[in-house]
Parts: sequence; C-alpha cells; structure tokens
Amino acid sequence: MLDINSCAILNNGVKMPWLGFGTYKIEYENASVDYIRKALEVGYRHIDTASVYGNEPIVGQALKESGIKRNEIFVTSKVWNNKHGYDKTLKAFEDTLERLNMDYLDLYLIHWPKKLNKETWKALERLYKDKRVRAIGVSNFKVHHLKEILEDCEIAPMVNQVEYHPQFQQTELKEFCTKNKIQLEAWGPLMQGKIFDMPLMHELATKYNKTIAQVALRWDLQTGVVTIPKSINENRIKENCDLYDFEISKEDMEKIKNLNTDIRIGHDPDTITF
Ligand code: NAD
Repeated sequence: MLDINSCAILNNGVKMPWLGFGTYKIEYENASVDYIRKALEVGYRHIDTASVYGNEPIVGQALKESGIKRNEIFVTSKVWNNKHGYDKTLKAFEDTLERLNMDYLDLYLIHWPKKLNKETWKALERLYKDKRVRAIGVSNFKVHHLKEILEDCEIAPMVNQVEYHPQFQQTELKEFCTKNKIQLEAWGPLMQGKIFDMPLMHELATKYNKTIAQVALRWDLQTGVVTIPKSINENRIKENCDLYDFEISKEDMEKIKNLNTDIRIGHDPDTITF
C-alpha cells in the first residue's frame, strides 16, 4: 500500500485502486463537476457512481475535462433496484454508459439485492463476456445473497461493496468474501460523518498526528478493504487521500476491532422497501 495508485487485484486479474472517490449526493448541478475534477487533480483515479445518484453525466464530464486517459481511471456504476431482470439490466447498462459518455465500465454492480438477483446477474455476465465491463460485482449482498449467486453462476462476483466502518465490521461476510476471492469494498467508511464522535478514533488521530478520517481510511486499507470516502470540501478531498505516511500498529488495530457493535447506520439489505 504505497500510494494512491496502489491497487487490489481482483479475482480476474483486473487492478482496482484501493482508494476511490465516492459521489453519493453529488448531484447534477454546475458546481458538482468541480468536486470530481478536484479529486482527479489531487490524484484519485477511481470514481464510484451509480445511476440512482443522478450524477453520471457530471462524472463523465469531469473525466473528459481532466484530460486523463480513460484507461488510467477506474469507474464503477451500479444498476438500480427498478432495473433488475435480464433485459432491463442490459438496457440500464447502456443508459449508464451513454450518460457517462463512455464505451465501457471498469466495474458494474448490482446496487441492492432483490428478488431477481439471478436474472440480473446473468445480464452482468453477458456484459462481462461481451467485454463491455472489465469486472462485475454486487453491493449490499449478505452471505445468503452471495450463496444464491455462487450456486449456479458462470462467473463469480469480483467485488461486494457494503457498509463497512469500525462500528460495523461485517466479520462473517468479510471472511466469506475472502474465502471466495470476492474483494470487499467499504461504503460509508466515515460513517457518513458519525465516525468523528468516537473517542478512540480521536485518541488515535492524536497519537499518529493524523485526522480521524485518515485513521479510519487507513484502517480500511490495512484490513484489506477498498474504500471510497466522499467529500465536496477541497481540503478534505486532499486529506482523505493522504494515507500513506503512517501505519496503525497491531495493538491499535485490535483496539479498533473492539469498536464493532454490528450496528448499521444504513439500511438492512433484507428489509429495504425501495
Ligand atoms: P462517507 O462515510 O464517505 O461520509 C461522507 C461524509 O463525511 C461527507 O459528506 C462529509 O460530510 C464527511 N467527511 C468526508 N471527509 C471528511 C473529513 N476528512 N473530515 C470531516 N468530515 C468528512 O459516506 P458516503 O458518502 O455515504 O459513502 C462513501 C461512498 O460510498 C458514497 O459517496 C458512494 O459513492 C458510496 N455509497 C454506496 C452505497 C451503496 O449502497 N452501495 C451506499 C452509500 C454510499
């Protein structure tokens, strides 16, 4: 884990930068493109979007304006819940590419598990085989959802993007993913702002002379989890990628482990109503 360009290697050999830029709630308005452009300027080469975020056009615009070559950037998007099913998913993917103004994606995910997971997964396999996307995966899948896919898929998911932070460490899911070579990716790595209330994180930030956000993000990397913090503040965008000049000790990793309460801040994938 040397710098912002360091990559996880997915089970098909594709390289995925360990650190990415989250874009949830960065919407389609004039200033939005600046945040993504800023992230690219400071060195992020991995952008996480989704059709439901409504910002794919500005992600595409920012990438184009940055002048960075398409193959130097890792772009993820996701199929939304009302587009599950084989044909609908294939169409949703084309719409996503059109909004992004791109001819392929690096990673396409099923955003949340729903009844039609298997049909939706078949569409992702089709897109992968047709080389429209370099890697395919899921998001918010629990062990039982993964088992459902794994029992008869042709291509196993490469990534599972889930809520993951010191309070919600997903121990069983993480073990299952490791065993099945599915890369875990953290959404909400800063607990959507709530991490700043944890006394131990304050203590460790002081000890390492870093910020709480940096300690939390470094913890993701040291636990082998890809992380995609989001910020629209220029200083924080920079701060969140300045993670490579310190290492959390084994003892402190243990202390953070003990913060786990298994309490989510987001929705439980088994009971979503959207
Ligand atoms: P996050 O944990 O990244 O927290 C973001 C919030 O933390 C920001 O709005 C900001 O207020 C604050 N923040 C960021 N950097 C900070 C800093 N250095 N100091 C102080 N405050 C700071 O939460 P998130 O945006 O929900 O998650 C990250 C990304 O994960 C999203 O942007 C999105 O791309 C993805 N995501 C995916 C799903 C999913 O269902 N797959 C769900 C939520 C988010």
